[in-house]
Amino acid sequence: MNKCSFCGKDKKNTNLLIAGISGHICDACVEQAHTIMEEELKKKTDFNVDLLKLPKPIEIKEFLDMYVIGQEEAKKYLSVAVYNHYKRLKHTTGKDDVEIEKSNIILVGETGTGKTLLARTIAKMLQVPFTIVDATVLTEAGYVGEDIESILTRLLQVADYDTKMAEKGIVFIDEIDKIARKSDNPSITRDVSGEGVQQGLLKLLEGAVINVPPQGGRKHPEQKMIPVDTKNILFICGGAFDGIERKIGQRLNTKVIGYSASKDIEQVDRSNLMQYIAPQDLKAFGLIPEIIGRLPVLTYLNPLDREALRRILTEPKNAITKQYEKLFQIDNIKLEFKNDALEYIVDKAIEYKLGARGLRSISEAIMMDAMFELPSKNETKVVVDLNFAKKHLEKLNVKRLKVA
Ligand code: ADP
Repeated sequence: MNKCSFCGKDKKNTNLLIAGISGHICDACVEQAHTIMEEELKKKTDFNVDLLKLPKPIEIKEFLDMYVIGQEEAKKYLSVAVYNHYKRLKHTTGKDDVEIEKSNIILVGETGTGKTLLARTIAKMLQVPFTIVDATVLTEAGYVGEDIESILTRLLQVADYDTKMAEKGIVFIDEIDKIARKSDNPSITRDVSGEGVQQGLLKLLEGAVINVPPQGGRKHPEQKMIPVDTKNILFICGGAFDGIERKIGQRLNTKVIGYSASKDIEQVDRSNLMQYIAPQDLKAFGLIPEIIGRLPVLTYLNPLDREALRRILTEPKNAITKQYEKLFQIDNIKLEFKNDALEYIVDKAIEYKLGARGLRSISEAIMMDAMFELPSKNETKVVVDLNFAKKHLEKLNVKRLKVA
């Protein structure tokens, strides 16, 4: 009778027994050996970033270019920030006592312009744990909602509870504008999801040892807290800051009243005020100065114009049209989008103010019948032209298209 040479189990007691030249190994021992190996290798490589092998900022940006259309400035800032993050991890204790401080980032831009996409894309190439959290669910301790520490729970989870790794990670906090102070007068009512949360976030952003509930939430009061030092965690915040252009406009107006102003005023591009965003606009919007101070890198995303929307349809590595072509290709059907159909999709996205997210829902509506019927037919080619697109979209009430 063959036996596992490691645990001694008989063949009949295993799921699988693999034979070697002079012995056998069972499935359970293979699994166990694999786990041991992973753990040992992890210990050895325990985050030893080789700067030479790291992508340089220009390369990071080139990678972002493959997935994100436009947003040049935001991409540049993000690439530098991530590269510097690595450098700082490598050189926290320099001989010359120069400590490189972290530069958390804040990305401001209308919803649907690519903030989350940027964060997700950068995560693809990172060698550190990365997580995206939503600021809207956060509330001050003791109120309904999530504690601020839960942000770090997520990071711990993606780092497989390896605290050392988590302490070098990157966290993207989405919808940071939703925790803006609700009113200019902080004393009116208690603002549990606004200023209170901002105060709580401060500690995290500036770097402190935070006790993190490993399971998150408040449902497990008995759980043992894990201390996590946030000194080297990079925070990237994103928010739409609806209406902030008005604040920017107001600031620019008051500034230009001063002397030598006439020159400045001519140069202001009123069609895109976002590009002039400055920390004081965030303050006017309701972020407390301490938070703004902890987010020293401020950059913006442009609203997507017609040309950008058209490019988003076809150019990114996983562009919407490429995804449909692939879907049909699996059924051996060649799918071709004609230019007039693409222009039509863009027109509708603009007409119904659906933005980049709308491109997807409109395309989905246009393609639905084809996706439903064609796999059962013998056709090998579909051409999506203006007529096709119109016919299928008009069947639906476009206004009904939900933008997730
Ligand atoms: P938000 O700024 O609200 O975080 P998202 O990044 O979630 O916006 O964008 C929503 C979707 O729109 C993305 O998943 C992507 O498909 C598309 N999109 C938005 N902006 C861009 C862009 N600049 N380049 C490519 N696709 C984009």
